[in-house]
Amino acid sequence: MAHFAFVSAPAPGHVNPTLPLVAELVRRGHRVSYATGPSTVDGAVAAGAAPVVLPSRLPPDMDARGEFTADQLAVTLEHFLADARVSFPVLAEHFTADRPEVVCYDSVTFTGRMLANLLGVPDVALVPTFAENERFSATQVYLPASFDHTHPRLVAAIGAMGEFAAGHEFLADPNLMFGYVAPVSIVFIPREFQLAGETFDDRFHFVGPTVADAGEWSPDGDGPVLLVSLGTVFNQRPDVYRACVEAFGDTEWQVVMSTGELDTSLLGPLPGNVWAARRVPQVAVLRHATAFVSHAGMNSLMEAVLHGVPVVAVPRIPEQRAVARRAEELGVARVPAEVTAESLRAAVEEARGLRAGAVALGDLARRAGGAPAAADVLEKLLT
Ligand code: UDP
Repeated sequence: MAHFAFVSAPAPGHVNPTLPLVAELVRRGHRVSYATGPSTVDGAVAAGAAPVVLPSRLPPDMDARGEFTADQLAVTLEHFLADARVSFPVLAEHFTADRPEVVCYDSVTFTGRMLANLLGVPDVALVPTFAENERFSATQVYLPASFDHTHPRLVAAIGAMGEFAAGHEFLADPNLMFGYVAPVSIVFIPREFQLAGETFDDRFHFVGPTVADAGEWSPDGDGPVLLVSLGTVFNQRPDVYRACVEAFGDTEWQVVMSTGELDTSLLGPLPGNVWAARRVPQVAVLRHATAFVSHAGMNSLMEAVLHGVPVVAVPRIPEQRAVARRAEELGVARVPAEVTAESLRAAVEEARGLRAGAVALGDLARRAGGAPAAADVLEKLLT
């Protein structure tokens, strides 16, 4: 029996795909300690991990920070650094007293790698989106042409990170946020979905999506089910929900909308075939869905294809735009040029024709091996 440390930022999109792996390790008799913020720790506990609660939270006002402008990136880096300053001492103290054999960390949560280096144990990056290597940078894909690399606040934020790294002499590689490639990465998408997939060598294990037990949900009537969900972060988009209500209200569709941060009452009275809640059991709804209007978060996209559900993508931030483009390229999504009732109606009709493609990509994703394949990779590090 081994002890694995998991470290992740408190974002459901980053924590969720790791939970079936935690459950699989526990099922195999290992011990898992999961360090994350208060908002995501319950999921880890439910998966069988012992909690290590970090003083971590997402940057405030995330909804305004989706774009890759130099200023927004600077604020995000400042947040990660401020978080590392308070979270790393907690990690170091806890895991020095209760040493793990391996540290697995969300690929943007660099305090996990710092912990592995401090303890001198293997570090494993857990990648919930497109992976990056020395030849392919997803960050470069996301950066707009107008990006200002000389923006003073960004230069200062990068400088502060460099100083922080230099103050930790045990760190093997001082690049904290960008440019580090872990010796082992577990990537929760199938290789077929990865951009420049052929450039990834055997340090990268594309195990595909892993989906935790989703709860129950059953449709009310016989009409086709349309799920509308814009994820857990950048979801304050009343225009999208209103366009969906206008397009699909009082039709045969049974519309299930997850409105996230947005108070459902702001949408006004809803037609009888539209049901809205701030959170819905997304995976359980997808089991019954015919189409999915989604922000194209990677987890949502993967959950859709696992259930053979084609997507109408309404991305908001650069990463989501890249996921949406890739999904369209692979024939599992439509990306309307604008979000109006009319364009959504047309895109959903077109998407219905993509079911076979979604089922086929879902089969590939399943064959990538999921949590058992990821647990095999981790167990090999123990020998
Ligand atoms: N999710 C859910 N219910 C909701 C909204 C989201 O269960 O009402 C889950 C969804 O199934 C997925 C995660 O939250 O696992 C969202 O991750 P994704 O990468 O799609 O988007 P993000 O929230 O990171 O933008």
